[in-house]
Amino acid sequence: MKIHEYQAKQVLGKYGVPIPEGRVATSPEQVKAIAEGFRDGLVVVKAQVHVGGRGKAGGIKLAKTPAEAEEVGKQILGMDLKGLKVKKVLVEQGLAIDKEYYLGMILDRDSKRIVVMVSSEGGVDIEEVAARSPEKIAKVAINPTLGLADHQIRHLCFAGGIDKSLVKEVSRFLKALYVAFRESDASLAEINPLVVTKAGTLIAADAKINIDDNALFRQADLAAWQESEDDNPIEEEARKRGLTYVSLDGDIGIIGNGAGLVMTSLDVVSREGGKPANFLDIGGGAKAEVVRNALEVVLLKPDIKGVVVNIFGGITRCDEVARGIIDAARSLDIKVPVVVRLEGTSVEEGKAILASSGLNLVPASTMREAARKIVELSYAA
Ligand code: GDP
Ligand code: MN
Repeated sequence: MKIHEYQAKQVLGKYGVPIPEGRVATSPEQVKAIAEGFRDGLVVVKAQVHVGGRGKAGGIKLAKTPAEAEEVGKQILGMDLKGLKVKKVLVEQGLAIDKEYYLGMILDRDSKRIVVMVSSEGGVDIEEVAARSPEKIAKVAINPTLGLADHQIRHLCFAGGIDKSLVKEVSRFLKALYVAFRESDASLAEINPLVVTKAGTLIAADAKINIDDNALFRQADLAAWQESEDDNPIEEEARKRGLTYVSLDGDIGIIGNGAGLVMTSLDVVSREGGKPANFLDIGGGAKAEVVRNALEVVLLKPDIKGVVVNIFGGITRCDEVARGIIDAARSLDIKVPVVVRLEGTSVEEGKAILASSGLNLVPASTMREAARKIVELSYAA
């Protein structure tokens, strides 16, 4: 379960982590009123939605006066951020930033331990740092019985490139974050960025905590923060149409039949370098109408770059699927590439229907080929 930044900060605050002064607002007037209460001029207005990379997506803005903060609040409240409508903003006292560090912990399924990460490359997308220069992220797996030891903290700070004069202070943050992680049954906890201010103090400028769903029964306070999926208009639309759709962060739409096949499709597309935009299972025995609905829903996501349809026909008939795709393609004016892989029951009829449609649908004979083609076509421009 994801919680919002302001909630994660509330949790960390209880463990003694310094956080900026701030409050949540749901209207521009409230934004102004909160900003008027700050000593200092600089104000940050931050969209509270369950996605990362809000800064880059325009969900975080600075303002110099309460009036400007109100204006910025007007822009952010109600905006669509990666498919989510912004209903709340966190209004904070702005920070004069000197440096940005990254502190993170995840439950690592491979080592079956909590892995702690430290990097001097904070602020930006940490996945990008991991891909570009992995040596800049120091990592240590923690023995659950021994806990986070001082020598591990020293190693993390040294290898992570933390300024020597700040190690003692960073160590406090790591210890508090570790206890918060354990006691909240978190699966992920991040402070990114951990800001070094111009005055030389450290403060958690952003916080993210995910809670292990299996532990919610003993985390009543945190579980109370669970929000309905209605927050995501595409998921809501999918539910109305009876589709099993889960929105993801990427830009390649995925449609398949059967949860296992769709999950595998997500993995194969990722392995080929694509970022899946969604999970969508049309289920067994889907008729043309369902396929058409599925394509329509997947294409609702802004910034979608391509769609791959991966069908293994059993009860589902490939000719039905082909008819649905063509129906949708004729009425929708699809502007992105669509790769279709059909296999199984009535595959020849299905392929023939697609081929004779005159529409720009790219056939593939295996899942791997489909993934390769959609990644190539989607990111071509
Ligand atoms: P995210 O994009 O969702 O991770 O949101 P963050 O809260 O991490 O903000 C993104 C970036 O906005 C940070 O890395 C900072 O560079 C910038 N930012 C956030 N708060 C402040 C602030 O108080 N002052 C200044 N100058 N920049 C800020
Ligand atoms: Mn961040």
